[in-house]
Amino acid sequence: MSETLKLIHQAKIDEAARIAKVLANPTRIQILNLLGQSRLNVSELIQALGSEQSTVSHQLQKLRAYELISQERIGKSIYYQLDDPHIIDTLNQLLAHVDHVLLGEDHSGRHVSKSIDVDE
Ligand SMILES: [Zn+2]
Repeated sequence: MSETLKLIHQAKIDEAARIAKVLANPTRIQILNLLGQSRLNVSELIQALGSEQSTVSHQLQKLRAYELISQERIGKSIYYQLDDPHIIDTLNQLLAHVDHVLLGEDHSGRHVSKSIDVDE
């Protein structure tokens, strides 16, 4: 039995923990949720989040530093996008699990992507 159990390589588990830590922030989860729906610039994110520019810029910088999002200049605006399918899937799985926990849904594997309401 035990010889069939496999541990994750240390470097890989360290990286997984590092990425999980970046995800462990409400504003960053909300930004990823929004960018999962559309490519957005800072102004659009500020409006959607109802947050200060400094907060949004700081979190975008962090998400970019950890390569969870990318940016692209279009005209005079810089747009942010979530273009990594693993991160999109991870976010969707996390939110589906949250629905399962909050709403008592089963583990049907059904794709449940629910936006989190912004407190205003
Ligand atoms: Zn679950």
